[in-house]
Amino acid sequence: MHYITNIQKFSIHDGDGIRTTVFFKGCKLRCQWCHNPETQNFKPEIQYDSDKCTGCGRCVNACPNGALSFSQAAPGEAPTVVTDQSKCQLCGRCVDVCPQCARDIIGKEYSVPSLVKEIMKDRMFYEDSGGGVTLSGGEVMAMDKEYLVSLCQALHRQGIDITIDTCGEAPWETYEAIIPYVHTWLYDIKTLDDELHRKYIGAGNQLILDNLKKLAAAGERIYIRIPVVKEVNGTEESMRDVIRFLGENHIAPPQINLLPYHDTGKSKYPRLGREYEAENLHAPDNEEMQSFVKMFNEAGYGNVKIGG
Ligand code: SF4
Ligand code: SF4
Repeated sequence: MHYITNIQKFSIHDGDGIRTTVFFKGCKLRCQWCHNPETQNFKPEIQYDSDKCTGCGRCVNACPNGALSFSQAAPGEAPTVVTDQSKCQLCGRCVDVCPQCARDIIGKEYSVPSLVKEIMKDRMFYEDSGGGVTLSGGEVMAMDKEYLVSLCQALHRQGIDITIDTCGEAPWETYEAIIPYVHTWLYDIKTLDDELHRKYIGAGNQLILDNLKKLAAAGERIYIRIPVVKEVNGTEESMRDVIRFLGENHIAPPQINLLPYHDTGKSKYPRLGREYEAENLHAPDNEEMQSFVKMFNEAGYGNVKIGG
């Protein structure tokens, strides 16, 4: 099964031109600062917005599985609805009865033909702007290889430009299988320090770096994207490591994006019943970001941008 959380139209930050970005659900990494936590789990899940909830109790009464209850609220505070995910069967009844639209099921299944049909609705904009479709997530490359090949072949047949936005944590066989159809890769590098990678990203970096080397060796067009977090990789030493890695592996990206940490995804965590772990993380200040750009420029990488 392949689930999608969002199909974003008129996107201009996920590759060239005007694009439709498809967010697949599921990723093996757990970046503490992830601003799309609803894309991390591979399965659909319930999202609940307590700010919209009036506490009417209709959802609690409607749930056939006893998965919902009210929290113990502090004096003066309104109780909120708590979902026991282990009991929830995603039947959707609580969503249907909520008069405030405070509940939603995140993750919709799309077959290849239905997804292609949706993407093709904006063909005119791709053609006029030199854009196309960006397959993102979550981690699109963690989806089933056969599904992805079939999707990419169908889009390629229609002449749609395909960009893949990837964190690199997926089997090489999947990358290899869709190389013939992909125009551009947006490839994340977080840190070359494996220990820090495990601490803040939830897995080592070996597979990610190996896949990047193989894509580069295959002559692929790769934009490098570096989320910059002061406590993780926001140092000259860390940027020097990346520059050295790119040089040693003859990777010459047409574009490098340095993406300063931001916490715009923070409010999504409580809606999923999760805690935001990145409270103590920060973006480097503008002067530091500019100094990182300068380091890349001095190493011969000309097209380095701050932001997407
Ligand atoms: S989706 Fe169905 S099972 Fe899950 S909490 Fe809502 S009503 Fe209960
Ligand atoms: S039905 Fe909606 S508004 Fe009523 S308690 Fe449930 S989530 Fe809140």
